Amino acid sequence: MIQDIAPHRLRNEYIPEKSAAADSRCFLFRGREMLFRIRDDKVELPLRAEFPAEAECTYLFAIDDTEYYMITAPEGSTTDGEIESPEGFKLPDDCKFKTVHELRNEGKMDRLLTYAAFTAQQLAGWYRDNVFCGTCGSRTVHGDVERSIICPKCGRIIYPRIAPAVIVGVTNGDRILLTKYRGRLYAYYALIAGFTEIGETFEGTVEREVMEEAGIRVKNIRYYKSQPWGVADNILAGYFCDLDGDPTIHLDTNELRIGEWTAREDIILQPDDLSLTNEMMKIFKEGREPR
Ligand SMILES: [Zn+2]
Repeated sequence: MIQDIAPHRLRNEYIPEKSAAADSRCFLFRGREMLFRIRDDKVELPLRAEFPAEAECTYLFAIDDTEYYMITAPEGSTTDGEIESPEGFKLPDDCKFKTVHELRNEGKMDRLLTYAAFTAQQLAGWYRDNVFCGTCGSRTVHGDVERSIICPKCGRIIYPRIAPAVIVGVTNGDRILLTKYRGRLYAYYALIAGFTEIGETFEGTVEREVMEEAGIRVKNIRYYKSQPWGVADNILAGYFCDLDGDPTIHLDTNELRIGEWTAREDIILQPDDLSLTNEMMKIFKEGREPR
């Protein structure tokens, strides 16, 4: 899965006041795109020394001893369209704005950089969306003892935004319920999935989502593993469960295009091994799911 980067290790303890070295890796975001250097088939991040010295630079995390920062372009500068050099803010040479999704599809991202990019994207979105306090509208500051954003006027403390959701492998003997989403670029088979609502347990989410999306009841709900999925601000909790009663699927066609019981040997896996969904499909295919 995306987070399985051993022997490397994500070090995300919060260290305020950390300043980038010339060779620190830097993310610069433009909407959902980020700036990469693509040479032949190798994708890299630009280095701190390649950005203007006065650019605001926020420490995000380290992987082993390599530190990753977020560059914020000065207000008023533009990085729209093809790469430009906004006045006073020159971008590194031969870099391109791309989404991680595009680079994944082109097969150019290794797991470690994908994980770093997903994590950075979630952090950057949280910083970007909380420049002003949602309660009183004042400009906020970064916390200095923990990862937080603080409103100096009303005292509001804003913590990182993480949305819990479940991935569900519903089994019926040697078959599992596979789905395909409607209207998504992502065309591969997946499992039932959904966000946890306020006031709900993970197990409650499992029961509700399976009923909403497929119209069936489940029992014997058992936890498998979790996965951070920063590109959607998620923490995903994977569960297996068994069909309880009638196997007739009543598909929520607003969300799903396909929902069908699939035998172990007929499961078609996703093209890369980054997702919890794919790992759960794989272990069921191999008969290794928790019973
Ligand atoms: Zn406030």
